[in-house]
Amino acid sequence: MKNWLNRMLYGLLPGKCILCSAATNRYLDLCLNCETDLPRLPNPCWQCGLTAAEGQEICGSCLIHPPPFSHCFAALEYSPPVDRLIHQFKNQRKIMFGKVLATVLSEQYLRHHMVFPDAWIPVPLHKDRLKHRGFNQALEIAEVLADTTQVPVNPRACRRITDTGDQKSLSAKQRKQNMKNVFTVDFPLNGECIGIIDDVVTTTATVSELTRLLLKHGASDVQIICLARTPVTSRSGST
Ligand SMILES: [Zn+2]
Ligand SMILES: [Zn+2]
Repeated sequence: MKNWLNRMLYGLLPGKCILCSAATNRYLDLCLNCETDLPRLPNPCWQCGLTAAEGQEICGSCLIHPPPFSHCFAALEYSPPVDRLIHQFKNQRKIMFGKVLATVLSEQYLRHHMVFPDAWIPVPLHKDRLKHRGFNQALEIAEVLADTTQVPVNPRACRRITDTGDQKSLSAKQRKQNMKNVFTVDFPLNGECIGIIDDVVTTTATVSELTRLLLKHGASDVQIICLARTPVTSRSGST
């Protein structure tokens, strides 16, 4: 209903593309040309979201060392202009940029999935960081997905009890170490399949740690859904 209303309002008030400023004349403030040109990871591995060999659904790395989550779906590759849009969304309070990217994500998600998780859990922010930023970017994304899939958001199941700070300068191994005892589960799950929502997934250290904890506390399956996936682990972005 909300989505239908949004689309109608967009129709009445034509928006401007957030990338090229052209009039969009569509329900999204992103023109069709700019949306088509957004970078995407080719042939993503079903399990980790990184590029798999041609004709393969699962990459070699996941076959040898499978991650704790069963599936990772990223709408876009974390490279220009997606990295800039996400940076402005998170750090300059351009909430609308996040909503546009989340709409791109939810439409791609619907195109590729027939079965949805039982609940979305946005990666929690530490309370100090939430106070500083004023919003949790993962929750903003989750609300768009909840609207299009009619799957509820569960933002209270877990909390982040340690602020890991900026992890950009850390190696994959250091990020993994840094994630120990970062989260706690307040309300155990009851066999639900959970879709963890994050903005950017780089080394998977954060989402792997949260996955292990949710599985330990009653989730039957955990999947990861994110705006963007960093193609090379040495690049900075998120966790
Ligand atoms: Zn455009
Ligand atoms: Zn993989």
